Amino acid sequence: MELHIACIPGDGIGPEIVREAKKVLDKVASKYGHTIVYQDILMGGASIDVHGVPLTDEAIAAAKAADAVLMGSIGGDTNTSPWYQLPPDKRPEAGLLKIRKELNLFANLRPAYLYEELAAACPLKEEISKAGFDMLIMRELTGGLYFGERNTVTQNGVRKAYDTLTYNENEIRRIAIKGFEVARKRKHKVTSVDKANVLDSSRLWRAVVNEVAKDYPDVELEHMLVDNCAMQLVKDPAQFDVILTENMFGDILSDEASMVTGSIGMLSSASLNDTRFGLYEPSHGSAPDIAGKDIANPIATVLSAAMMLRYSFDLDREADDIENAVRRVLKDGFRTADIMSDGCVKVGCQQMGDLLTERVSAEGV
Ligand code: NAD
Repeated sequence: MELHIACIPGDGIGPEIVREAKKVLDKVASKYGHTIVYQDILMGGASIDVHGVPLTDEAIAAAKAADAVLMGSIGGDTNTSPWYQLPPDKRPEAGLLKIRKELNLFANLRPAYLYEELAAACPLKEEISKAGFDMLIMRELTGGLYFGERNTVTQNGVRKAYDTLTYNENEIRRIAIKGFEVARKRKHKVTSVDKANVLDSSRLWRAVVNEVAKDYPDVELEHMLVDNCAMQLVKDPAQFDVILTENMFGDILSDEASMVTGSIGMLSSASLNDTRFGLYEPSHGSAPDIAGKDIANPIATVLSAAMMLRYSFDLDREADDIENAVRRVLKDGFRTADIMSDGCVKVGCQQMGDLLTERVSAEGV
């Protein structure tokens, strides 16, 4: 198979972690007989420095021409970087918002997985963490409260502000379909999270999710109110497989879910549109405080590359290989500084990439 991947190394640790992910991808490609054609794209601060804008039209066209985008992270130190003296629409993050919009990336997937070897970093009680967990938050990304009409007005001398939360059934249906499709690649369970006891938008959400579920009889569906879900995530996270939810609830719940894993350098993410196209990136930022020191953890980016193989190319076996390599490296006791613990061997970013590459086993098809 020929895979056309647009690469956005970005800023800070971005170029370091993307380089390691490419190394692992190249090993998988040679093992299974695929060809990868990369095209590097500038975005964020790196693009501002060269083009004066965080994302050019040419860069968008190159991303659209690819099958998928693999990204590091963009942005700099928000207190000291000159990029943050620019108006908001010219800053690094504007590039990310623009590419999400241009590529119509409405579904955001964030897995939260607790590795046995990293269980000590989990802030939950041991009796909960020892059960482990492996869930994925599927968040609607382009509708709801963050995109509704809003304003601040003064009426009779009193300031008043409002935000509106709107969804139409098509927006709900397309993300629900993504949720059920992804559940089919996992443990066949969807927990749809809403506030249907109060909000009309949630009642429509629930009705449409029920309609979509009829096409997926092999996937178990449950509905859960968002306040209960926030509680269940810390009480019994092992119960979840795919959590399907709207934009604001997903924003909050995905941060909660990632916190309970205890290791930000391990968390991958994907943003998909209604084709097979997706943008894959770690959940963390560009970590300017550790950029250029070869101490960043590349695993979140490597796991994002595995998600890309699974969701944009349907290469499940290849994705499994990468995920198993991560498990093996951790089991063998190698750790980057952010996940270091007693008795383990501390390695840098490049060495972690090499260890992962070695463990994408040589024997194959
Ligand atoms: P951050 O995630 O970059 O860093 C938070 C902390 O986690 C830092 O101490 C950092 O050193 C550490 N960390 C993050 N990733 C790590 C890794 N792979 N290995 C080891 N340690 C790691 O968050 P921040 O400091 O709030 O933001 C820095 C910049 O990143 C800002 O400009 C912000 O806007 C940007 N940002 C970009 C994205 C994105 O590109 N999608 C997401 C979040 C933040």
